[in-house]
Amino acid sequence: MIRPDGTAMPQFEEDGSDHQTGDYGGPVAQILFLPISPELAEKIKSHGDVAEASGLKPLEFEVPPGAEFKFTRFGMLRLDPVSYCGFCGAVYDYEVDECPRCLAKNQWYCGKCDALQKKPIIDTILATPDKDQKIIKIVPHLQKWAWRIAENLPGKWGFYSIQARCPECEKTDPRGLKNVECTGKMQSEEIFTFYDLQIGSERHRILDYKLNKPISG
Ligand SMILES: [Zn+2]
Ligand SMILES: [Zn+2]
Repeated sequence: MIRPDGTAMPQFEEDGSDHQTGDYGGPVAQILFLPISPELAEKIKSHGDVAEASGLKPLEFEVPPGAEFKFTRFGMLRLDPVSYCGFCGAVYDYEVDECPRCLAKNQWYCGKCDALQKKPIIDTILATPDKDQKIIKIVPHLQKWAWRIAENLPGKWGFYSIQARCPECEKTDPRGLKNVECTGKMQSEEIFTFYDLQIGSERHRILDYKLNKPISG
Protein backbone atom coordinates (compact mmCIF):
# COMPACT_ATOMS: atom_id res chain seq x y z
CA MET A 1 0.00 0.00 0.00
CA ILE A 2 1.19 3.47 -0.85
CA ARG A 3 0.21 6.41 1.39
CA PRO A 4 -0.77 9.74 -0.21
CA ASP A 5 2.68 11.10 0.70
CA GLY A 6 4.30 8.36 -1.41
CA THR A 7 5.66 6.23 1.43
CA ALA A 8 5.04 2.52 1.11
CA MET A 9 3.61 -0.02 3.52
CA PRO A 10 4.53 -3.44 2.22
CA GLN A 11 2.56 -6.37 3.53
CA PHE A 12 5.75 -8.31 3.96
CA GLU A 13 9.04 -6.81 5.07
CA GLU A 14 12.24 -7.90 3.39
CA ASP A 15 12.86 -10.28 6.27
CA GLY A 16 9.46 -11.91 5.62
CA SER A 17 7.52 -10.61 8.64
CA ASP A 18 3.86 -9.89 7.96
CA HIS A 19 1.98 -6.62 8.47
CA GLN A 20 -1.72 -7.23 8.77
CA THR A 21 -3.41 -4.92 6.28
CA GLY A 22 -6.24 -4.35 8.75
CA ASP A 23 -3.86 -2.71 11.25
CA TYR A 24 -3.70 0.54 9.36
CA GLY A 25 -6.69 2.83 9.20
CA GLY A 26 -5.04 5.87 7.63
CA PRO A 27 -5.26 7.18 4.06
CA VAL A 28 -4.08 5.06 1.12
CA ALA A 29 -3.45 6.40 -2.39
CA GLN A 30 -2.44 3.32 -4.29
CA ILE A 31 -2.33 -0.42 -3.95
CA LEU A 32 0.44 -2.31 -5.68
CA PHE A 33 0.64 -6.03 -6.20
CA LEU A 34 4.17 -7.18 -6.47
CA PRO A 35 4.91 -10.84 -7.09
CA ILE A 36 6.42 -12.71 -4.17
CA SER A 37 9.87 -13.97 -5.11
CA PRO A 38 10.92 -17.50 -4.16
CA GLU A 39 13.42 -15.97 -1.67
CA LEU A 40 10.75 -13.85 0.03
CA ALA A 41 8.38 -16.84 0.12
CA GLU A 42 11.01 -18.82 2.05
CA LYS A 43 11.51 -15.96 4.52
CA ILE A 44 7.75 -15.63 5.07
CA LYS A 45 7.55 -19.35 5.77
CA SER A 46 10.36 -19.00 8.31
CA HIS A 47 7.94 -16.78 10.31
CA GLY A 48 5.38 -19.58 10.34
CA ASP A 49 3.17 -17.98 7.67
CA VAL A 50 1.97 -19.57 4.46
CA ALA A 51 3.56 -18.26 1.27
CA GLU A 52 4.12 -19.36 -2.28
CA ALA A 53 6.28 -17.63 -4.84
CA SER A 54 4.09 -16.00 -7.45
CA GLY A 55 4.39 -15.46 -11.18
CA LEU A 56 1.84 -12.65 -11.01
CA LYS A 57 2.68 -9.49 -12.96
CA PRO A 58 2.91 -6.32 -10.88
CA LEU A 59 -0.51 -4.64 -10.75
CA GLU A 60 -1.40 -1.11 -9.73
CA PHE A 61 -4.68 0.25 -8.38
CA GLU A 62 -5.40 3.89 -7.66
CA VAL A 63 -7.43 4.67 -4.57
CA PRO A 64 -9.30 8.01 -5.01
CA PRO A 65 -8.97 10.28 -1.96
CA GLY A 66 -11.48 9.31 0.68
CA ALA A 67 -12.56 6.10 -1.06
CA GLU A 68 -13.20 3.09 1.14
CA PHE A 69 -11.15 0.06 0.34
CA LYS A 70 -11.03 -3.49 1.51
CA PHE A 71 -8.55 -6.16 0.63
CA THR A 72 -8.84 -9.86 1.29
CA ARG A 73 -6.75 -12.78 0.21
CA PHE A 74 -7.56 -16.43 0.32
CA GLY A 75 -5.81 -19.50 -0.99
CA MET A 76 -6.86 -22.94 -2.10
CA LEU A 77 -4.87 -26.05 -2.71
CA ARG A 78 -6.13 -28.61 -5.20
CA LEU A 79 -4.80 -32.13 -5.55
CA ASP A 80 -5.60 -34.14 -8.67
CA PRO A 81 -4.41 -37.59 -9.66
CA VAL A 82 -2.39 -37.58 -12.91
CA SER A 83 -0.19 -39.95 -14.92
CA TYR A 84 3.44 -39.13 -15.60
CA CYS A 85 6.01 -40.53 -18.00
CA GLY A 86 9.34 -41.71 -16.62
CA PHE A 87 11.02 -41.30 -20.01
CA CYS A 88 10.10 -37.84 -21.19
CA GLY A 89 8.58 -36.32 -18.05
CA ALA A 90 5.17 -35.60 -19.62
CA VAL A 91 2.23 -35.27 -17.23
CA TYR A 92 -1.13 -36.34 -18.66
CA ASP A 93 -4.61 -37.62 -17.95
CA TYR A 94 -4.96 -40.16 -15.14
CA GLU A 95 -7.08 -42.49 -17.29
CA VAL A 96 -4.54 -42.68 -20.12
CA ASP A 97 -2.01 -45.50 -19.90
CA GLU A 98 0.29 -44.56 -22.78
CA CYS A 99 2.37 -41.39 -22.77
CA PRO A 100 0.84 -39.13 -25.46
CA ARG A 101 4.24 -37.54 -26.12
CA CYS A 102 6.67 -40.45 -26.46
CA LEU A 103 4.23 -43.44 -26.43
CA ALA A 104 5.99 -45.05 -23.47
CA LYS A 105 3.82 -47.37 -21.41
CA ASN A 106 4.25 -50.03 -18.78
CA GLN A 107 5.21 -53.39 -20.26
CA TRP A 108 5.44 -56.99 -19.14
CA TYR A 109 8.60 -59.06 -19.47
CA CYS A 110 8.89 -62.87 -19.39
CA GLY A 111 12.28 -64.11 -18.18
CA LYS A 112 11.86 -67.56 -19.75
CA CYS A 113 10.86 -66.26 -23.20
CA ASP A 114 13.26 -63.31 -22.76
CA ALA A 115 10.65 -61.14 -24.44
CA LEU A 116 8.09 -58.45 -23.71
CA GLN A 117 4.55 -59.83 -23.68
CA LYS A 118 1.91 -57.55 -25.15
CA LYS A 119 -1.06 -59.63 -24.01
CA PRO A 120 -0.35 -60.95 -20.54
CA ILE A 121 -2.90 -63.05 -18.67
CA ILE A 122 -3.97 -60.74 -15.89
CA ASP A 123 -5.53 -61.78 -12.63
CA THR A 124 -6.98 -59.00 -10.58
CA ILE A 125 -6.63 -59.50 -6.84
CA LEU A 126 -9.29 -57.98 -4.62
CA ALA A 127 -9.15 -57.68 -0.87
CA THR A 128 -11.49 -56.70 1.96
CA PRO A 129 -10.55 -54.64 5.02
CA ASP A 130 -10.43 -57.99 6.92
CA LYS A 131 -7.69 -59.14 4.52
CA ASP A 132 -9.82 -61.68 2.65
CA GLN A 133 -8.62 -62.00 -0.92
CA LYS A 134 -10.06 -63.24 -4.16
CA ILE A 135 -9.01 -63.30 -7.78
CA ILE A 136 -11.24 -62.08 -10.60
CA LYS A 137 -10.77 -61.70 -14.35
CA ILE A 138 -11.29 -58.34 -15.97
CA VAL A 139 -11.03 -57.82 -19.73
CA PRO A 140 -7.88 -55.82 -20.55
CA HIS A 141 -9.50 -52.58 -21.69
CA LEU A 142 -11.50 -52.39 -18.44
CA GLN A 143 -8.51 -53.16 -16.24
CA LYS A 144 -7.95 -49.51 -15.38
CA TRP A 145 -11.44 -49.47 -13.86
CA ALA A 146 -10.61 -52.43 -11.58
CA TRP A 147 -11.04 -50.32 -8.43
CA ARG A 148 -14.52 -49.26 -9.54
CA ILE A 149 -15.55 -52.77 -10.56
CA ALA A 150 -14.35 -54.04 -7.16
CA GLU A 151 -16.41 -51.44 -5.33
CA ASN A 152 -19.55 -52.46 -7.21
CA LEU A 153 -19.29 -56.11 -6.15
CA PRO A 154 -21.36 -57.26 -3.18
CA GLY A 155 -19.21 -57.25 -0.03
CA LYS A 156 -16.48 -54.84 0.96
CA TRP A 157 -14.12 -55.60 -1.90
CA GLY A 158 -11.46 -53.17 -3.00
CA PHE A 159 -8.78 -53.38 -5.66
CA TYR A 160 -5.58 -54.84 -4.19
CA SER A 161 -3.15 -55.61 -7.01
CA ILE A 162 -2.71 -57.50 -10.24
CA GLN A 163 -0.73 -60.56 -11.20
CA ALA A 164 0.38 -61.08 -14.80
CA ARG A 165 1.42 -64.38 -16.37
CA CYS A 166 3.08 -65.16 -19.69
CA PRO A 167 0.58 -66.38 -22.35
CA GLU A 168 3.36 -68.32 -24.15
CA CYS A 169 4.47 -70.26 -21.08
CA GLU A 170 0.98 -70.71 -19.60
CA LYS A 171 0.33 -74.23 -20.99
CA THR A 172 3.69 -75.79 -20.19
CA ASP A 173 5.22 -73.89 -17.29
CA PRO A 174 3.13 -70.94 -15.96
CA ARG A 175 5.33 -67.93 -15.34
CA GLY A 176 4.81 -64.60 -13.70
CA LEU A 177 5.76 -61.52 -15.69
CA LYS A 178 7.88 -58.67 -14.47
CA ASN A 179 6.39 -55.21 -14.80
CA VAL A 180 8.72 -52.86 -16.67
CA GLU A 181 7.53 -49.60 -15.26
CA CYS A 182 7.88 -46.54 -17.49
CA THR A 183 4.95 -44.48 -16.33
CA GLY A 184 3.33 -43.90 -12.98
CA LYS A 185 0.47 -42.25 -11.17
CA MET A 186 0.77 -39.37 -8.75
CA GLN A 187 -0.87 -36.26 -7.39
CA SER A 188 -0.52 -32.90 -9.03
CA GLU A 189 -0.57 -29.94 -6.69
CA GLU A 190 -2.19 -26.72 -7.76
CA ILE A 191 -2.35 -23.59 -5.71
CA PHE A 192 -4.93 -20.94 -6.40
CA THR A 193 -4.79 -17.64 -4.59
CA PHE A 194 -7.67 -15.21 -4.90
CA TYR A 195 -7.34 -11.56 -4.06
CA ASP A 196 -10.43 -9.55 -3.57
CA LEU A 197 -9.92 -5.83 -3.72
CA GLN A 198 -12.77 -3.42 -3.20
CA ILE A 199 -12.09 0.27 -3.93
CA GLY A 200 -15.15 2.47 -3.49
CA SER A 201 -17.82 0.78 -5.60
CA GLU A 202 -15.30 -1.02 -7.81
CA ARG A 203 -14.40 -4.58 -7.15
CA HIS A 204 -11.30 -6.31 -8.47
CA ARG A 205 -10.80 -10.00 -8.39
CA ILE A 206 -7.31 -11.24 -9.01
CA LEU A 207 -6.51 -14.90 -9.43
CA ASP A 208 -3.01 -16.16 -9.02
CA TYR A 209 -2.56 -19.72 -10.14
CA LYS A 210 0.38 -22.01 -9.82
CA LEU A 211 1.04 -25.60 -10.82
CA ASN A 212 3.63 -27.06 -8.53
CA LYS A 213 5.97 -29.77 -9.64
CA PRO A 214 3.90 -32.92 -9.19
CA ILE A 215 4.67 -34.89 -6.07
CA SER A 216 4.96 -38.67 -6.19
CA GLY A 217 2.31 -40.38 -4.23
ZN1 LIG B 1 6.79 -39.92 -22.47
ZN1 LIG C 1 7.08 -66.75 -21.33
